[in-house]
Amino acid sequence: MSELKLYNSLSGKKEIFEPIVPKHVGMYVCGPTVYSNVHLGNVRTFISFDVIYRYLKYLGYKVRYVRNITDAGHLEDNSEEDKISKKARLEKLEPMEIVQEYTIDFHKVLDLVNNQPPSIEPTATGHIIEQIEITKDIINKGYAYESGGSIYFDVKKYNDVIDTYGKLSGRKIDEMISNTRELSGQEEKRNPQDFALWKKASPQHIMRWPSPWSNGFPGWHLECTVMSTKYLGEQFDIHGGGMDLKFPHHECEIAQGKTANGKDPVKYWMHANMLTLNGKKMSKSTGNHLLPNEIFSGDNQLLSKAYSPAVVRFFMLQAHYRNMLDLSEDALLAAEKGYKRLMEAIKLVDKLPGSNKSSIDVNAWIDSLYDAMNDDFNTPILIANLFEGVKNINLVNDKKESLTQTDIEKLSKAIKSFSFEVLGLHKLESDANNSQSFDKVIQILIDIRNKARAEKNWTLTDQIRDELLKFGIQLKDSKEGTTYTFK
Ligand code: AMP
Ligand code: ZN
Repeated sequence: MSELKLYNSLSGKKEIFEPIVPKHVGMYVCGPTVYSNVHLGNVRTFISFDVIYRYLKYLGYKVRYVRNITDAGHLEDNSEEDKISKKARLEKLEPMEIVQEYTIDFHKVLDLVNNQPPSIEPTATGHIIEQIEITKDIINKGYAYESGGSIYFDVKKYNDVIDTYGKLSGRKIDEMISNTRELSGQEEKRNPQDFALWKKASPQHIMRWPSPWSNGFPGWHLECTVMSTKYLGEQFDIHGGGMDLKFPHHECEIAQGKTANGKDPVKYWMHANMLTLNGKKMSKSTGNHLLPNEIFSGDNQLLSKAYSPAVVRFFMLQAHYRNMLDLSEDALLAAEKGYKRLMEAIKLVDKLPGSNKSSIDVNAWIDSLYDAMNDDFNTPILIANLFEGVKNINLVNDKKESLTQTDIEKLSKAIKSFSFEVLGLHKLESDANNSQSFDKVIQILIDIRNKARAEKNWTLTDQIRDELLKFGIQLKDSKEGTTYTFK
């Protein structure tokens, strides 16, 4: 079987995955900024990393998955105001009411799409002390300076002395300097590309904590450095996030970590690509987005009907996480069809008749499932290979191919575990429960009818049979008893 390879954004290559501590994986993924409802684009990124988390565990790694909640420090684009603080000000609520509302929404949505919770979900506000401590450390090392009560990271000095600033995103520091727009607060910085480790709060800024420099709040980039280091160590295996976080967020994380701890914080950087709508990135700020509930309920202007969370998840996984994906009715309809076909084959597989010989190489097919995932978590290839399994299940059912009982069991186990454990597709529990309950109800009616028959109550006997027939359910009496089929 192939080895697991993953694409490292830092090297720009697929690399063989070798964790720092054998059999253990530390993985950090930037979480949401909880100032509004997560949109489907955000959900895509979290599904991408959920599948990575699931597959690593499936391979037997002990994974510690840390995904933070950004509840402070993320500034509005082109502004000095914290996103949560601004929303709280506009809605006349406590910032923590905003955080609570949208954290609950985030969890509900991820639960609906069947994501597993991370091992630790730390918040930025729960780590202010650590953020102050690391800021002091970076100042002491000479790579940050105070200006007007705020602390800025000295990017130029870092780039001259420690390491290239821009090595992850491929940006050149000179171009960054000339491209930086003049924003408010820029005059405090030595260079425009310097970024804040600590910001002094303006009088109207409601989120603030005391520090040696000012009453203020920590910088967004710093929280991820602090929380990843605290829970995963100074160097850990995987750091993920959406492609749009590569610069400046992740670039800054590398600079902070390397300055504070003297080493590169992350071995493998992974970036998930964007979900687009009408060919443009889904985004909160531009309004070009769909909310998960709008698609699950069908309450939107874009699509003609509702799509279930299961279908939406399946749709997302039909694209590789590093490719863009555009949301469209046609793609969702195709996903709905594909998902149903897969689930029907999974229902059928355990009912297949065993033969004394197999005409299909089940072991090679199982290898192909691992090969797909080992090639940088290639879920579209995995799904294509699962459909090869679906085709074979149907052929065996139609007696055009044959499988031994052992092979049927292998096929059944593999198709189920890759669909449910690895891809995290929804098990149709409700379907299963419904069909079980349905079965029981029909059985009760059959029993009543048998009793009526025994009592020669032909009116009731016929009534039960005829009424069921109206719903397309046909009762069949035989020596063995009464069974039913759908007409
Ligand atoms: P935010 O709450 O804005 O910090 O975003 C949370 C996560 O969603 C980040 O990893 C972003 O990179 C990611 N993200 C934002 N927009 C999209 C999109 N259109 N498609 C996929 N991921 C996105
Ligand atoms: Zn982050």
